[in-house]
Amino acid sequence: MADDKLDAVIVGGGLAGLAAAYCLGEAGRQVLLLERGDEPGSKNVTGGRIYLSPIRPLLPGFFDDAPFERHVVKEALTMVDGRNTTLLSHVQDRWRHPPYMSYTVLRARFDQWFSTRAMEKGAFIVPRRRVDDLLWEDGRVAGVHAGGEEIPAHMVLAADGALSFMAEKAHLRQPLVPSRHAVAVKEVYGLDPGAIEERFGLDPGEGAAHLFMGSVTKGRFGGGFLYTNKESLSLGLVLGMDDLMRGSEEFDVLKQGSEQFDVPSLMEDFESLPEIGRYIKGADLKEYSAHIITEAGAGGLSRLFTDGMLVAGDAAGFALNMGVTVRGMEFAVASGVIAARVIDEALTKNDFSAQFLSLYEKRLRESFVMKDMETFRHTAEVLANPRLFTVYPACISSLLEAVFTIGEDPRKGLYRSAMDATKKHVGVWNAFKDFLSLRKI
Ligand SMILES: Cc1cc2nc3c(=O)[nH]c(=O)nc-3n(C[C@H](O)[C@H](O)[C@H](O)COP(=O)(O)OP(=O)(O)OC[C@H]3O[C@@H](n4cnc5c(N)ncnc54)[C@H](O)[C@@H]3O)c2cc1C
Repeated sequence: MADDKLDAVIVGGGLAGLAAAYCLGEAGRQVLLLERGDEPGSKNVTGGRIYLSPIRPLLPGFFDDAPFERHVVKEALTMVDGRNTTLLSHVQDRWRHPPYMSYTVLRARFDQWFSTRAMEKGAFIVPRRRVDDLLWEDGRVAGVHAGGEEIPAHMVLAADGALSFMAEKAHLRQPLVPSRHAVAVKEVYGLDPGAIEERFGLDPGEGAAHLFMGSVTKGRFGGGFLYTNKESLSLGLVLGMDDLMRGSEEFDVLKQGSEQFDVPSLMEDFESLPEIGRYIKGADLKEYSAHIITEAGAGGLSRLFTDGMLVAGDAAGFALNMGVTVRGMEFAVASGVIAARVIDEALTKNDFSAQFLSLYEKRLRESFVMKDMETFRHTAEVLANPRLFTVYPACISSLLEAVFTIGEDPRKGLYRSAMDATKKHVGVWNAFKDFLSLRKI
């Protein structure tokens, strides 16, 4: 084996790549991370909120001085049926006390902090350097091509995000499959911390995570999100790529097909909801971004290793959208840490074969990463039911209207109102089928 090889090259300075760089630096390995953006975090978009409980044990004490925004104490879900809304809100007292379960984050700030920690451990991080291709030696991955240079390395970690061209070039995943991805748009609004706390009913430093489903996506797979940061709000929409690309005629049956359906107009309609308007009133729009999200769960994972290379984070497909929770960041950190540990062992044993590197998949299977991906394997399929985004919000809205309205006529009983709303909007047979499908998740 040539001596001029680096121990490892990491492609991508998102959370998966940075976590791996940090751990390999700490292990005293020669590690180079190449990031195409101006700096780590500059190209990264998230809702978002990071769940810390699963990853704290992997990096004890590491997150104590991380620049998080707010710890989340309030979860809310609003079902939208035109201008009618049904809000479910939950505050759990335990979430108000450290160690906090989850925090909102702004990736530009968080990833830069992470990158500084990795460099302090000896990782070499080079921004504005796009990796163009893999370097091959005797049929195995042996480094990368970047900026016209060949960079030989014993190990390559592909941590290049949801579109991972590196995993594709190594024949570990297919080119983009629309049904496995969603398109997201996000806006950040600057707002005074006091106004945030007053509008969301929070104590100083506390945060809220608010998701929206129903007619915000006009019958298509997806939903809206609103997160509170220290001095800003993150507002956005996620839309299934398959539905975005499909013709509208499939939705005629749901009486949604004739409505205007492009991402900017959906975002405008979303912002114009009174429920959103009251939160962003007087706030300054500071940023607008768009990104791809991986959503397929265990069924959409790439192969995770080949001779000389591993795949981590979104590049591998480690993300779960469960409608009420969106998870990707903690999977990225955990898979980056686990990949680094396996690379460290491979370097010690001087064995970079696929056979040895299968240890990575084994370790992931023992961790929460693959366990959760397997448990929620069928979530995407269950959530792909268009009724969830159309007739159910309408059904709940008309049931609650019947419950809370006292008019001139005598009232119907609650059971009769529920049956009438179900028959009118969903159909009893559809409701029964949909109820049974919930057993899969
Ligand atoms: C709008 C939105 C909302 C989300 N909300 C949440 C949420 O609330 N909670 C949650 O946990 N997750 C959320 N996610 C998912 C989460 O953001 C991802 O799972 C996570 O960022 C994955 O991290 P990563 O390091 O694998 O990839 P990324 O963060 O995408 O990082 C990949 C990096 O690779 C770089 N790169 C790509 N190609 C190359 C190349 N050829 N050469 C060099 N560099 C390259 C990119 O510039 C980027 O910096 C959301 C995602 C989106 C888009």
